[in-house]
Amino acid sequence: MLYSNYFPKTQKQDPTSAEAVNHKYLVRAGFIDQLMSGSWTLLPFGQRVIQKINQIIREELNQTGALEMALPLLHPKEIWARSGRWDDLKVDEIMYKLKDKNDREYCLSFTHEEIVMDLLGKHNLSYKDLPIKLYQFSTKFRNELRAKSGIMRGREFLMKDLYSAHTSEEDMLKYYEEVKKSYLEIFKRIGLDVYVVEAAGGVFTDRNTHEFQVFNPAGEDTIYYCENGDFAENEEIYDPKLTKCPVCGAEIKTIKSTEVGNIFPLGTKYSQKMEVYYKDENGENQPIWFASYGIGPTRVMGILVEVFHDDKGIIWPEAVAPFKVHLVGLDLADQAIKSKVEKTYKLLQVEGIEVLYDDRQDISPGEKFADADLIGLPYRVVISKRTGDKLEVKRRDKKDTEFLNFEQLLKRI
Ligand SMILES: [Zn+2]
Repeated sequence: MLYSNYFPKTQKQDPTSAEAVNHKYLVRAGFIDQLMSGSWTLLPFGQRVIQKINQIIREELNQTGALEMALPLLHPKEIWARSGRWDDLKVDEIMYKLKDKNDREYCLSFTHEEIVMDLLGKHNLSYKDLPIKLYQFSTKFRNELRAKSGIMRGREFLMKDLYSAHTSEEDMLKYYEEVKKSYLEIFKRIGLDVYVVEAAGGVFTDRNTHEFQVFNPAGEDTIYYCENGDFAENEEIYDPKLTKCPVCGAEIKTIKSTEVGNIFPLGTKYSQKMEVYYKDENGENQPIWFASYGIGPTRVMGILVEVFHDDKGIIWPEAVAPFKVHLVGLDLADQAIKSKVEKTYKLLQVEGIEVLYDDRQDISPGEKFADADLIGLPYRVVISKRTGDKLEVKRRDKKDTEFLNFEQLLKRI
């Protein structure tokens, strides 16, 4: 991509009222734009990061046999009334409800358990049809009073939500463990260290659930954990009398963190309340064991910036960077230099490497370098009068630069 074509260009000033690092850098570097509190436009750079995060999630979930689909976001009251959640006061606090011209009531979805259960109920399921594993990437809505953490807490945000339906608790828990492993692989590939933390199910279930948390000094959650990695609980269920790890006896520590994923073994609650059953070997109705699993890709993008940045800007992990190489052309008024940069740009693309080429002629080297640091692509490659027949290569997360020829560059990246 030619940076001269890119919209929008970087901004020098932090956006007013920005408190979170992800808010400041993602806006200044041109990844997101705020429409209103808790509501964000994904600009082209941001969209590329989200697509890469989503693709990693998609590849890992497909390996568990899950199928991708897309569900509607506007739901009729009747379906939510069947589970009892339409009138749940805690749900009422976070769900947007609205009426149409005929006074019929609807909500904007913050989750899809009821809709998936309703879908299953239309297909006269037998034990042979189960398990069923369905997932989607879609917008979710939450009526947040305060939405101050940049893109990490939104009124409207992206979620990957997976739902699984089973004939038995054993089969549900087996897949639940499989998804837990799959999530760990997803976050590893994205470049995030996560802790699996036991938590209360909130508006979803009475059972204990699991959260995937990233340690982050600016995080909203407090985690009680053992440094040996065998115990972690969040604030809501943690017993304050517990000062030593119940597994190994080490001292329990606390840390601030941010939730990036959660998994809920819901059990038969939704099946029984909504009267959606499967037929067993004897043709008898049996309740469906149900579980749901979420990851917030926009929130993941936010936490990546909170974890990977310095005082100059973002430092993207390679797996999710919008481009791999930031090609900076200097002295472009010199035709020989200009054609050398253009040739390098084309050759990198031929090799299948994603390149952002800063081809602007009226911008000083200092400003181009500052923009490259702010945007945070993994490799900066400079071509100028000074670089001769070599390329000046610098990794965003390292201080030193080196001079390489094209073949050496290819090997390096
Ligand atoms: Zn321990």
